[in-house]
Amino acid sequence: MDTLPVVIVRPGEADRLLAGHPWVYAASIMRLTKPAEPGDVVQVKDHRQRFLGIGFYNPKSKINVRLLTQEREDINLAFFERRIRAALALRTKHMPKATSFRVVNAESDFLSGLIVDKYEDVLVLQTSSLGMDMRKAEIIAALQRIFKPRAIVERNELASRKFEGLADANGVIAGEIEGDIDVKLNGLSFKTNPLGGHKTGLYLDQQANYQRVAEMSKGAQVLDCFSFLGGFAIHAAKEGAAHVHALDQSADAIKAATENAAANGVANKCVFEEANVFDWLKAQSTVGPNEKLLPKYDVIILDPPSFTRSRSAVGDALRGYKEIHLRALKLLKPGGTLATFCCSHHVDSTLFMDVILTAAFDAHKVLRRVETFSQSPDHPVIPSIPETEYLKGFAFEVAR
Ligand code: SAH
Repeated sequence: MDTLPVVIVRPGEADRLLAGHPWVYAASIMRLTKPAEPGDVVQVKDHRQRFLGIGFYNPKSKINVRLLTQEREDINLAFFERRIRAALALRTKHMPKATSFRVVNAESDFLSGLIVDKYEDVLVLQTSSLGMDMRKAEIIAALQRIFKPRAIVERNELASRKFEGLADANGVIAGEIEGDIDVKLNGLSFKTNPLGGHKTGLYLDQQANYQRVAEMSKGAQVLDCFSFLGGFAIHAAKEGAAHVHALDQSADAIKAATENAAANGVANKCVFEEANVFDWLKAQSTVGPNEKLLPKYDVIILDPPSFTRSRSAVGDALRGYKEIHLRALKLLKPGGTLATFCCSHHVDSTLFMDVILTAAFDAHKVLRRVETFSQSPDHPVIPSIPETEYLKGFAFEVAR
């Protein structure tokens, strides 16, 4: 342990690391005590030589060190097994009935650079840092011991890998798998193919919210905007919605959602329409000079993709968010519920709330907030690592 190269950070940098944030940027580093190779394990100390932790070194990345632990411990198979078991215990505590969930969510589980999703008996692995990627064999061995999975699949085509000097990699790395997996979310069936194709990317982060929004939808006429594989729509239909109209611009998503609805026995209550939500909402909420708009929906769900990947595009994103909220509010019946989500890192919950209130003002509606949503507990939020929080949402009733 004491033979490891030591990265000394500048004065003032230690507190953030002590508070739990795992990234040491190049600019925070004062010096190294001896050369380290990309991917090596290093110690991190402050300028007074106080030990701060151990992590992976990669000078090719803007993040030079990703801390893994504040203890003096070896980073080996036993370490990964302990950490993954601890992450699993959290899921079991907070989502006792779930059979598909994110087992390891990188920084949220103090394993920066590692994501593991469990789709029933198949595990999907992503390694986005060089140090983690180099230790895939130990990670796979730990996963085998804990889960005894039917297969482990690698889905490593992330843009972030390029910053670490890693090439794309995709395929089965342990066991065997053929065709789709029938993934259960809250006991409902969703088909996905972990190896790719059009059915990839079944999101797990809304699992808790599917159920909560569904419970608000009993007997309701529901509109699900940006429906993807039908997560919200099918949960609502199953929980007793009178009818669900779902919109997505992707033909593949519409096809998959239609099949998912049938597999869950709610095809008769759901319509999945291929449409651009902006155009559709505009057409539905625009009336002629002597016409009156008759709101049709008791519940409207807005779960769009992130409208901005960069801080500079936040203005455009906010205009987009405002537009869909304004239109949706016009289509909501008095007393109806708007369940709305924002997964953009650059739009925080205060800013998101501001946009919604501006839209409500323009629509001449007063809203009552009845629920606040976050990502499901398998994507834990660590407030001292702000990057771990990205999904926020609210349910509002139209108060008047
Ligand atoms: N609610 C979904 C996640 C939505 S992801 C769930 O719980 O799984 C975003 C979806 O929005 C994608 O399926 C994408 O095809 C769709 N989309 C993006 N822009 C769109 C637009 N302008 N109109 C309609 N759908 C859009």
